[in-house]
Amino acid sequence: MAQQLIDQFAARLPADRRAAVYQSTKTTHEKRTAMLFDQFAEPHRLRALAGGIKQHVLENLDTLLPAVEAKLQANGAQVHWAATAEAACAAVLRIMQARGATKLVKAKTMVSEEIALEHFLAAHGIEALETDLGEFIVQLDHDRPSHIVRPIIHKNRREIAQSFERHGLGAYDDDPQTITRRARQFLRQKYLQADVGLTGANFVSVESGRLVLVTNEGNSRFSLAAPKCHIALVGIEKLVPRDRDLGLLLNLLARSATAQQLTVYTEFITGPKAATQPDGPEELHVIFVDNGRTDVLASECRAILRCIRCGACMNVCPVYRQASGHAYRSVYPGPVGAVLSPLLAGKKFPELADLPKASSLCGACHEVCPVDIPIPDLLLRLRDQGKRAGAPLAAAGTPPMGAWALLASQPAAWKAALLGGKIINYLPTKLLPVPPLRAWEKSRTLPEWRGGEFRRWLRHRTTP
Ligand code: SF4
Repeated sequence: MAQQLIDQFAARLPADRRAAVYQSTKTTHEKRTAMLFDQFAEPHRLRALAGGIKQHVLENLDTLLPAVEAKLQANGAQVHWAATAEAACAAVLRIMQARGATKLVKAKTMVSEEIALEHFLAAHGIEALETDLGEFIVQLDHDRPSHIVRPIIHKNRREIAQSFERHGLGAYDDDPQTITRRARQFLRQKYLQADVGLTGANFVSVESGRLVLVTNEGNSRFSLAAPKCHIALVGIEKLVPRDRDLGLLLNLLARSATAQQLTVYTEFITGPKAATQPDGPEELHVIFVDNGRTDVLASECRAILRCIRCGACMNVCPVYRQASGHAYRSVYPGPVGAVLSPLLAGKKFPELADLPKASSLCGACHEVCPVDIPIPDLLLRLRDQGKRAGAPLAAAGTPPMGAWALLASQPAAWKAALLGGKIINYLPTKLLPVPPLRAWEKSRTLPEWRGGEFRRWLRHRTTP
């Protein structure tokens, strides 16, 4: 059961790792909030506006997708459609084999993680090298990203220096500048040797057919400079109707993701290299990936497809801060993952169906989301669907809520339970009277009893 697994994962997380995740997410969240409210008079209106633009896209995908295909083709791109992860991987392989290509450099793309492209290509003898520093370190260690913007939020520089030493990238040195320089030196030769550069796209403008990519390291630019072929893997929901929508979305994305006014490198790609340009890819292939998105679109949780992958909901989530990203067992962790992962996985991975329970429903994720996704509502809908499908509402060992409801609706029983609460406070776990309560307490801490003073407080408050 996910709730219990997330609890267990959090309990096993080394204290320094939990502290690092907590501090890093908290700092980014605070900077993001200060920046948004300092620089914009009404950030919540901007979030609503951005959410409206993305919602419009979702409601009009049937006309916007053919329109963007026509625009991309007019710009010289070749457009491919992939209904499944397997079809998307096969499309990349086909393009590479047609060119006799064996080496690919890859900028950060969540879709490629989602479809497990690297493993697929490796099985076909193709090297797919990550060029985003965090993803490169994840790849070296055969690890998994634990945050969608900062994939190595769970690692410290000592671990990275050890990893570099193990993989022949220099003697142990945990100075961040040395680590970065060594990665740069290694990757520069790889860019020059690569046959194909693969990226995602943060947005695709239907109006102009422009692909928009943002990075802070310039690795996407390098990935497109030397290779003669560019493949962009794009989720079908990544469209924006007009170029001018990008002004708002890019401003919100950078502030929400990394508390920057604008991401360091923002690329606008309109087709392959023109005859007059000295460098750049001669071929541009855009692969639009569905992989469960149309099912999400048909569901009552379609608003999750507005997501622009900023990670702000992870940074603010009390569950993510305690458990970190690996606890979610999926490519998309945190609140967005608790909705999106089980929906995208559908029946293929029923073990993810309980992720919607990994939330306190505090609502912080909705408050920070730059596209105003009502994540707590979606979590409740998924919980409701799970209940209707017969899934247990709570993790094993959780006392049934029916008992609580019975107590709460019977004043005499409630008062007796309050008295019992005082007594339980003084009992060691093994002496707890009810076995389910004992099992529940094994993975949770029973809050300290602070007295049942609410009725008295209310009586005093309402008596003139
Ligand atoms: S759900 Fe919202 S806050 Fe979370 S990653 Fe997506 S856009 Fe960002």
